[in-house]
Amino acid sequence: MTIKSRGKVKYEKPRLVRGMKDILPHDERYWEWIRHKVFDLAKDYGFELIATPILEEKGLFIRSIGESTDIVEKEMYSFTDQGGSSLVLRPESTASTVRAYNEHGMVNQPQPVKLLNYGSMFRRERPQAGRYREFHQFSFEVLGDDQPVIDAQLIIIAHNFFKELGIEPNLQINSLGNKESRETYKKELADYLKPRRNQLCDDCKKRLLKNPLRVLDCKDSSCIELTLDAPQIIDFLDEEDHAHFTQVLEYLDGMEVPYNLNPRIIRGLDYYSRTTFEIWPGENQGKAQSALGGGGRYDGLSRLIGGRDVPASGFSVGIERVISLLKENDIFVPGKKSPDIFLAQLGDVSRKKALMLFEQLRSKGIKVIESFSKDGIKPQLEIANRLNIKIVLILGQKEIIDGTILFRDMESGNQEVINFEKTIPELERRLSLAANNNGVKIRHTVKKPDEPVKKS
Ligand code: AMP
Repeated sequence: MTIKSRGKVKYEKPRLVRGMKDILPHDERYWEWIRHKVFDLAKDYGFELIATPILEEKGLFIRSIGESTDIVEKEMYSFTDQGGSSLVLRPESTASTVRAYNEHGMVNQPQPVKLLNYGSMFRRERPQAGRYREFHQFSFEVLGDDQPVIDAQLIIIAHNFFKELGIEPNLQINSLGNKESRETYKKELADYLKPRRNQLCDDCKKRLLKNPLRVLDCKDSSCIELTLDAPQIIDFLDEEDHAHFTQVLEYLDGMEVPYNLNPRIIRGLDYYSRTTFEIWPGENQGKAQSALGGGGRYDGLSRLIGGRDVPASGFSVGIERVISLLKENDIFVPGKKSPDIFLAQLGDVSRKKALMLFEQLRSKGIKVIESFSKDGIKPQLEIANRLNIKIVLILGQKEIIDGTILFRDMESGNQEVINFEKTIPELERRLSLAANNNGVKIRHTVKKPDEPVKKS
C-alpha cells in the first residue's frame, strides 16, 4: 500500500497478512518432531506420501464439501486467474487426495490405497487463538475399502500419534449412517427445532433451513442447551450401518482405546457418512471441544466429484493446535543436537583454508559449525561456548605457516597443536572416543588448563 506525503510517494512497511503466521526458527524443533512422528507412523502403517497442489479448481470443493458449509459459503480464498479459471487455495486436502486418486487411476492398484497428505490449508475464518487463515494439517486417508477395521485402525493411528507426543487424546465418536437415513434424521431434527427456532443463534436459524445437522455443531451455549434432548442420529441408522459402527467400537474396545459416544460429532463437511470422530485434548490438557483433529468415513465423496464409488475413510490433524498444546502443557520436545565441532579462523588466509576444511569435514559427516564473518577469536569462542561445543578447531596465521591446526577442548580450555593433514583422522578418533565415553570426556594432553587463548 502507498501513502503520499508532501507530494512524495512513500511506501508503508509491508506487514504480515491478518490471520497468517510466520513460523520462526525457535519453533523449528516442534515442527521437526511432529513431522518425524507423522512420517514414522506413515511408514509403520504402510502409508505413502502424496502431495497435491495448493491451488485447486473451485468446483472440487463446492461439490465435495457442500455448498451450505461455512467453508464454501464464506471461508474460501477464491479468485479467477488470468486464463479465466476459477481457482481456490485449498481449504482442506481430502477432496484433493480423492481427486488425485481418481485422476491417476489408483483405483486399479491393489486396494486399499493408503495415503498421507501434509501441508498448508487456507480458510478465511475469524482469526483467534488456535485459528489461523493459513494452517497446516496432515491427513491419513485409506481409499478403496469399506471395512470397519479401516476406521478403527485410523483412529488407533491418531490415538498413537497423540500418546507418543505426550498428549492424552480424548476421542469423541459418532456415526452418521448413510444418505437416506441421514435425510430422515434431518427432517426429524428440523421438526424438533422449528418450534424452538427463536432460541437458536442467528447462524443456526439459517442452518435450520439449509442443513439442520449443522445446528448440532454450533458452539453457542443456548444452541447446545436446546439440542440436549433432540433426537439422536444413532437411532436412525439402518441395520447395516449400525453393525458397521458396532464393529468399529468393538475393535476399539479390543485395543483398549477409550472413546466417548457423542451424537454431536457430525463434522462441518457434508461428505461424511458412517463413522465420524474428533480428537479433543485430554482432561486438564487444554480447552475441551477445541478439536485437535477429526475425520471419518466418506464413501460418497468420490462420486460427488465425478468419480466412481470409492469407499474411503481418513482423518486430519491441525499441527498449530498440537504445537500450542505441547507448549501449554510444557511437554518436552527434543531439540536439534548441537554440532560437535566449531571451526574458528583468524585472518584472510586462514579463512580461505577454513572454508575448504569446512567442506571436507561436512563431506565426512562431521557436524561442524562456524562463524566465518567474525574476526577475533573471542567472539568465535563465545559462540562455541553458547552452543555447548566440545572441540574448537583454530586456524590462525601461525598455524597456516606451520601447516598445523589447534584443537581446543572447551571443557578444560586445553589446546593441542596438530599437524593439519591429520585434522580429520584425529577428529574422528576423538569423536568416537567421546561417543564411547557417552560424549563426556575428550582426551587432552599438551597445554595446562589455565593457559590463555592462543593469539596468532
Ligand atoms: P477440519 O479439516 O475442519 O476437520 O479440521 C481438522 C483440524 O485442523 C482441526 O481439528 C484443527 O486442529 C485444524 N484446523 C482447522 N481449521 C483451523 C484453523 N483455521 N486454524 C488452525 N487449525 C485449524
